[in-house]
Amino acid sequence: MATQIRIGIGYDIHRLVSDRPLILGGVTIEFDRGLLGHSDGDVVLHAVTDAVLGAAGMGDIGELYPDTDDRYKDADSGELLKDVIGRTRSAGFSPGNVDVVIHAERPNLSAHKTPITESVAALLGIPVANVNVKAKTNEGLGPVGSRDAIACTAITMLHCA
Ligand code: MG
Repeated sequence: MATQIRIGIGYDIHRLVSDRPLILGGVTIEFDRGLLGHSDGDVVLHAVTDAVLGAAGMGDIGELYPDTDDRYKDADSGELLKDVIGRTRSAGFSPGNVDVVIHAERPNLSAHKTPITESVAALLGIPVANVNVKAKTNEGLGPVGSRDAIACTAITMLHCA
């Protein structure tokens, strides 16, 4: 019998501001600024979460965890992603692989890609080999290029039961 799969895409962008920790993919990164957000601003986990929800046909992160709800103020995005994995598993989906592109002019993320990969794999409950993290600058263009924001694009495949 053919294995059924479904594909989902996620995108997010957050503004870089002073006096916030920089958290990407559940990993705290040494930097002089961090990402503004109602939650912890983890743009990577938000993109991955939306990719998982998209593949499952279950809407988006803003519908499930509204930024108008004080329960999600400074929320740990890892906990939100784990909740989404639980919901999608209950609906008969299990994560296959994830591919992530982080768009950041600064900081240089080359030394952080492995810890981010390991963190995302642990949150999804899949092997590290099934997670790929890439980091790109924006060649100085737009809000990412001017170092006012970090963005992330993610795509995921889910197996269907
Ligand atoms: Mg977000």
